[in-house]
Amino acid sequence: MKRNRKVKIVATLGPASSTYEMIRQLHEAGADVFRLNMSHGTHEEIAERHRAIRQVEKDLDSPIAILADLQGPKLRVGEFANKSEELEWGEPFRLDLDKTPGDHTRVCLPHPEIFQALEPGSSLLVNDGKIRLRVEDCGPDHANCVVVTGGTISNRKGVNVPDVVLPVAALSEKDRKDLEFVSALGVDWLALSFVQRPEDVTEARELCGGRAAILSKIEKPAAVRAFDEILAVSDGIMVARGDLGVELPVQNVPPIQKRLVRKCRAAAKPVIVATQMLESMIESPMPTRAEVSDVSGAIYEGADAIMLSAESAAGQYPVEAVTTMNNVAQEVEGDPTYTEIIEASRTASAKRSSVADGIVAAAREIAETTDIKAICCFTSTGTTAQLVARERPRVPIIAMTSHRGAARRLSLLWGTYCVMTGELERFKQAVVNAARAARSAGFATEEDQIVVTAGVPFNISGTTNILRVAPCDERLIYRTDPE
Ligand code: PGA
Ligand code: MN
Repeated sequence: MKRNRKVKIVATLGPASSTYEMIRQLHEAGADVFRLNMSHGTHEEIAERHRAIRQVEKDLDSPIAILADLQGPKLRVGEFANKSEELEWGEPFRLDLDKTPGDHTRVCLPHPEIFQALEPGSSLLVNDGKIRLRVEDCGPDHANCVVVTGGTISNRKGVNVPDVVLPVAALSEKDRKDLEFVSALGVDWLALSFVQRPEDVTEARELCGGRAAILSKIEKPAAVRAFDEILAVSDGIMVARGDLGVELPVQNVPPIQKRLVRKCRAAAKPVIVATQMLESMIESPMPTRAEVSDVSGAIYEGADAIMLSAESAAGQYPVEAVTTMNNVAQEVEGDPTYTEIIEASRTASAKRSSVADGIVAAAREIAETTDIKAICCFTSTGTTAQLVARERPRVPIIAMTSHRGAARRLSLLWGTYCVMTGELERFKQAVVNAARAARSAGFATEEDQIVVTAGVPFNISGTTNILRVAPCDERLIYRTDPE
């Protein structure tokens, strides 16, 4: 769907947003990508949402990306006899493998491999970091801890172990089942939670077998350290600030966000900034000023996409949250300072080596110096569109592709509007199609000009070798263009 902004919006679906009508409203309000969170909901519910998204896509004739987010190896404590307990500062608390319901002195942590990795002094964080335990001594089946920060602990609360690279499989049994399920359903992006090493990504990629692009969520200190290697084997990245801010001191998150966004842009791979962007809108129709500022910050940094989690999945105001992001994006992107920042930070560390790199840079340069209305790029796998998006040009990018999967996947990409074309043989036909797409989306009129990039011969990926500044008036194209 045509948007008056460059940054994309990812909306997580959940109980508050599972019907066809709601998904359609969210898409119309601005959601470009829908996230199916595999941590919640049954396979039946996931399939139902998937079906509804594809129906909206068909009814509105607008490619939509679906991102399935695997839970990953999330650690959880067992259950308590009284459902919950208060832990007080300085008290001892024991974690072990005993399945007997817990009390205020102990609880089960049913992950034997964790006890192997712990050392005296290691920290364990429970319930989104609200409770902090320090390991005093430990063995193969237990850890005796002391409560450093107290609070309420209850059944099946999540546990983070930030200091150690955990010897756990990147994909749990549940993840493997979910991966197979969503790959068979047909999703465009597969997000991996708690990635620790590049091997975690390659393992998932093998299981996925090319059925979806792979997006790594950066939410462990180990992943921040190994970021360059993880980025190299991933198709996209999510700065997962929720768990990242538990595993690291919260003040470390903004600099990491800035660095990761820049590196992804330099690598021409999409990056999503996620979590708590409009948290207060779960319960309020109005965001806080700080939230609006945070959303703006991610846009000024040049992130490809900003994400809603509980705001759209379980909140009371899903449509208002999307609308807020949309309005903030339009305002920020209309600010001349935004253009200055985006252009000053261009290709900070990008290696430019191919003909395609040169062509997309020229396209952007033409957009800066003349009044062209769009850059239309013919792309089969999507790589050329990614290179154009890396340039962060002033005008809309129209990705023209004959692959439905590419059109859907590229919906996550900064500034990119995706259009399906038939198989093309002649360049003149490509120019005519591009001009039509630009006109019918409302980016250009017959009086305007656009830039068209393509690779001839057509339908061979990696051949971008033509740049044409073309009129949008078809009669002129037929009169002037060679075959
Ligand atoms: P989650 O990931 O919502 O699946 O936990 C995002 C985050 O941790 O920020
Ligand atoms: Mn997370």
